Amino acid sequence: MNAEIIAVGSELLTPTKIDTNSLWLTDQLNTLGIEVVLKSIVADDRPRLTAQIAAAFERSDLVLITGGLGPTEDDVTRDAAAAALGIGQTFQPKIADQIAALFVRLGRKTMAENNKRQAFVLDGAEVLANPRGTAPGQWIAKNGRVVILLPGPPREMKPLFTEQCCPRIEKLLPPIVIRTRFYRVAGIGESDLDQLIAPVYTKYTNPVTTILASPGDIHIHLRARCTTAAEAETLLTEVAEPILELLGDRVYSDDGADLETTVGRKLKAKNAWLAVAESCTGGLIGERITSVAGSSNYFRGGFLTYTAQMKHEMVGVPLEMLAQHTAVSEPVVKAMASGARIKTKADYALSVTGYAGPEGGDDGTPAGLVWIGLATPVGVEANKFQLWGDRERVRSVAGIYALDWLRKKLSERS
Ligand code: ATP
Ligand code: MG
Repeated sequence: MNAEIIAVGSELLTPTKIDTNSLWLTDQLNTLGIEVVLKSIVADDRPRLTAQIAAAFERSDLVLITGGLGPTEDDVTRDAAAAALGIGQTFQPKIADQIAALFVRLGRKTMAENNKRQAFVLDGAEVLANPRGTAPGQWIAKNGRVVILLPGPPREMKPLFTEQCCPRIEKLLPPIVIRTRFYRVAGIGESDLDQLIAPVYTKYTNPVTTILASPGDIHIHLRARCTTAAEAETLLTEVAEPILELLGDRVYSDDGADLETTVGRKLKAKNAWLAVAESCTGGLIGERITSVAGSSNYFRGGFLTYTAQMKHEMVGVPLEMLAQHTAVSEPVVKAMASGARIKTKADYALSVTGYAGPEGGDDGTPAGLVWIGLATPVGVEANKFQLWGDRERVRSVAGIYALDWLRKKLSERS
């Protein structure tokens, strides 16, 4: 649907008065998804205005006319619209009474004879009540097109349009359907992710793509607005497919589920048990896993092995190994995972040991260096990460990386 605006008033053709009504109306119409294709300003001149309205009605779906609805001789909009559309006008005593009542309310004596002009309504028009002024607006639907007469003063025109025209216009527009997709991604930074997928999503203004990032965890929202659900789904698939292809197994959820829920579902599907041995994350992984209802079906428990002695006593890391390699090392993180798995008779065990910061190791190992171990029914592996950021970020990202590694491991075909 397109729209055309006609501003009426000789004063708008002087060097001192600007037509601001059409700017405001254009913004309102654009918000409704309607494009304004033509604007004009016409003097208080009956033949010229009649010709302009007739032409507008020929070429535009929606014609909005502001001004010239007043009581004086030079207010010619009603007459011009009636002539242009070839319809008559009828005096409506009820409207005349309302105008008279308004005069009383405003403390003015009696209604001038002239004001009766404002009680004329184009035949078949809907009257748009204007409680802030004397001249009512009019809504004329004809041949699938609509002409709207609006009062000129902005303080009358704006509320009248919002309250009475917007709901009527919305009914004329095709229904809008909104469909969304939501993906969660781990194991990639926000700028790397954006660099990867921006070439795909920036080609589209519909669907709109929004990326929300927190350390180690990114949300991608796609939102399509269409006239049918099928059209919206097709558009979403068109954008989502290449994005998913580029991100591969870094996408851990397409239904809003968080990482611990996704991991829990996979453990349950495999009928497998999990245990953890945590040092620098201080129980954060166990906390996340147990935050999911039903986690007792797949989580055996964990060890908070903060000192070397506890790593030895609780999950059996050899003291010599700790002395030789330090607590933040590949052999130790592997021994922690294996020990936790054996002690709890779990199928999988995650372990974490590292320097959360701000201090690093005595041997010069920098803060943020974290080892993650994963023991499975077929062996034990370890991965080293150099994380950046403060203590809180390092701990939280270490937890996410551990859970995400387990998620990927559980997705492998065995
Ligand atoms: P009234 O009953 O007040 O005469 P009206 O519908 O006849 O209302 P006009 O006489 O055309 O409206 O304009 C009244 C006043 O409204 C103008 O003097 C001007 O201040 C303001 N106005 C009219 N049209 C516009 C416009 N397009 N942009 C900004 N202001 C306008
Ligand atoms: Mg006027």
